[in-house]
Amino acid sequence: MQHARSLSKCAICGKTEEQVGTFPMVVGLGRVCLADGMKTVKCEACGDEVKLITSSRIQGKTLCLKDHMKELEKYRQHIVVTFDEDAEPVASILDKAYRDGPQGYTLLTIRRGRNSTHVWEAEYEKTEIFQTRCS
Ligand SMILES: [Zn+2]
Ligand SMILES: [Zn+2]
Repeated sequence: MQHARSLSKCAICGKTEEQVGTFPMVVGLGRVCLADGMKTVKCEACGDEVKLITSSRIQGKTLCLKDHMKELEKYRQHIVVTFDEDAEPVASILDKAYRDGPQGYTLLTIRRGRNSTHVWEAEYEKTEIFQTRCS
């Protein structure tokens, strides 16, 4: 028995489920009743009509499963910038890596490139993610 969990309310119509766990979860929206879950919504990225329960909401946008996955990929995105020690001194590489990173990204780490004695890699992560994780 699942006494600990309480009954969910539909995020669309406000109806309360009769048994715990019967309302499916829609990412970014919450639990919805089956009637609302079967309604079709339009993906704002590709325009496909999908059932609400297979959609998700990211930053206020309704997305189909495919675009949801794409969006997650983007969200996780890291950028790696490489510098060549043969072209400039290490001090200048470090300095540049810190100050001239891609806009909206935070420097995570700077390291020697794999299998290389002169290439450096600066790895950046999207600043918003970085902040979410650190707070
Ligand atoms: Zn409902
Ligand atoms: Zn889509």
